[in-house]
Amino acid sequence: MVDPVRSRERMVREQIEARGVSNPAVLDAMRSLPRHLFVEEAFACKAYSDGPLPIGEGQTISQPFIVARMSELLQVEPGMTVLEIGTGSGYQAAVLAHMGVDVYTVERIRNLFFAARKRFMDMRLFSVKLKLDDGTMGWPEHAPYDRIIVTAGGPEVPEPLLEQLADPGRMVIPVGDSKRVQRLVLLEKAGGQVIRSEHGDVAFVDLVGQHGW
Ligand code: SAH
Repeated sequence: MVDPVRSRERMVREQIEARGVSNPAVLDAMRSLPRHLFVEEAFACKAYSDGPLPIGEGQTISQPFIVARMSELLQVEPGMTVLEIGTGSGYQAAVLAHMGVDVYTVERIRNLFFAARKRFMDMRLFSVKLKLDDGTMGWPEHAPYDRIIVTAGGPEVPEPLLEQLADPGRMVIPVGDSKRVQRLVLLEKAGGQVIRSEHGDVAFVDLVGQHGW
C-alpha cells in the first residue's frame, strides 16, 4: 500500500477540505487516525478512497467525507459525552474520541462489536465504551448525552434517543422512508424545544431495531 500518512493528507485535502469541512479538530483526527486498520485487510489499499467500504456482515464503514461532515455538524467540544449508534468498524467513534470526548457506542451485530472492541484495545483507545445491543433504545445508564450520532438510516428519529439527549444538545441522524436514501437530519435541543434541519442526502445501511426498520 502507498504511504498511509500521505494517503491521509491527500484524503483530507481532496475529499474533505475541498468540500467545505473546515473544523480543525475534525481535520486533525482524520489526518491522524489509521483508517486502513478499520477495514478488512483485503480492502486496506482502498481505505483512503472516496467511498464507503465493506466491513463484513453486509455493513459498511462510511465514506471519509460523510464521517467528517457528521463530526463537524455535531460541534463537539473536549470533555463532552457522546453517544453513537452503529459502531460498525469503530472509525467514527475513534474520530470523535480523538476530538477529546467520551464516546459511548452501541452495535447490534456481535462479530462487529467484538472486532471493534479488539481494535480499540489494540489502539489503546480507552475513552470509547462499547455495548452490544439495539441502539435505538439508547444507553440510558449514561444519559444525558451532549451529542448523539446515529450512523445507520432509519424511518424516524428514535424517541428514546431524543429523550437521552441533553438540553442543550445536538443529534445527527440519517432519516428516510426509503431504505437506500436518507436525509441527514440535525436536531438541536435548547430550552426544552427541538429544532430540526436537513443537511443533504446520504445513503446509510439500515438502522434495525425497535425504533428502526
Ligand atoms: N460508524 C460506523 C458505520 C457502520 S455502518 C463506522 O464508522 O464504521 C452502521 C452500523 O450500524 C452497522 O454496523 C450496523 O450493524 C449498525 N446498526 C444498525 N442498526 C443498529 C441498532 N439498532 N443498534 C446498534 N447498531 C446498529
